[in-house]
Amino acid sequence: MFSCTGFAAEAASAPLARFSFERRDTGPTDVRIEILFCGVCHSDLHTARNEWHFTVYPCVPGHEIVGRVVEVGSAVTKFKVGDRVGVGCMVDSCRECASCAEGLEQYCENGNTGTYNSPDKDTGHTFGGYSSHIVVEQDFVLRIPENLDLAAAAPLLCAGITTYSPLRHWGAGPGKRVGVAGLGGLGHMGVKLAHAMGAHVTVITTSQSKVADARALGADEVILSTSPDDMAAHANSLDLIIDAISADHPVDAYARLVKRDGAIVLVGAPENPLSIAAFTLLAKRRSFAGSGIGGIAETQEMLDFCAEHNVLSDIEIIPIQKINDAYERMLKSDVKYRFVIDMASLGTAA
Ligand code: NAP
Ligand code: ZN
Ligand code: ZN
Repeated sequence: MFSCTGFAAEAASAPLARFSFERRDTGPTDVRIEILFCGVCHSDLHTARNEWHFTVYPCVPGHEIVGRVVEVGSAVTKFKVGDRVGVGCMVDSCRECASCAEGLEQYCENGNTGTYNSPDKDTGHTFGGYSSHIVVEQDFVLRIPENLDLAAAAPLLCAGITTYSPLRHWGAGPGKRVGVAGLGGLGHMGVKLAHAMGAHVTVITTSQSKVADARALGADEVILSTSPDDMAAHANSLDLIIDAISADHPVDAYARLVKRDGAIVLVGAPENPLSIAAFTLLAKRRSFAGSGIGGIAETQEMLDFCAEHNVLSDIEIIPIQKINDAYERMLKSDVKYRFVIDMASLGTAA
């Protein structure tokens, strides 16, 4: 075992603070990574504050990790010291079930191992990327293409793949009208990716102040969800909505924007159940679906797609000492559009 420093929440109501812990030594198929940047996902906040009711403390969040390989195990073939790499929301899975066999490790039938807050045989539970180093099995490490800025690539590891995967699964592309609800970290990636795939993109936002940004990010149209007239004017107009909203919201009203045979796909994970009327679905044969992150091969495909299409996150870099302030600002939608922690700040005073 070796010592790491990071930031952790010790309880749901406690602010994150400096925390020392141990990680396993680099095993034969492991890669040890010095973390350079880590994105701040709303899931980190949900977990740190136990909004999903299964957090194990102390909790070191962070699953949008980029860094450099500093050590490889004796049997590692995929990476070498110095490589630019990333780690997303998973660090392992059973690798034997039908989902794993299909490259859908996120849906592992025996439960994937989350980058944080999952059982771990060496450390009790996993600790995430708000930390100096991480040790990960090589099959769960991603390669960051050389032309992608490392800090702005960090959010691709969760926000990027979580929107890319359903866009691909539901066939976003030329001739498809795609809505993105909630212009936050996930939403802004959804807009950029759907636009790069050639879809017609409509942002559905509560924030009048984001209308110009939405267009600059690649939206062709913007709907203000706070305006019943605007919502009614766009009824039955979209093939697919990626719903990336982090809080309780009237999903039924959003679903009515979907055309016959279209789908509204939840990627946002609000604390409480959402409500949808039977007739909203059956009267137009609409689907109400969900989607979780993406598999490892698809995550690499997404990174390569971003490299080819020059897609990166719009970020605000913060020192780790600002993480609690960043959580409050994220709750107020006061971020354009993803905070990324510069992990060099861990070396400075708390
Ligand atoms: P975020 O940056 O905080 O963005 C959330 C956006 O939701 C806000 O910018 C806001 O957009 C909108 N919103 C917030 N409160 C709202 C309300 N009461 N009514 C309507 N809209 C509201 O969060 P994020 O990091 O993108 O994450 C979004 C959600 O996805 C979180 O719940 C997160 O846990 C979840 N998530 C799921 C997966 C997965 O695998 N499915 C992966 C990662 C994250 P506007 O200002 O445009 O209205
Ligand atoms: Zn996330
Ligand atoms: Zn499995």
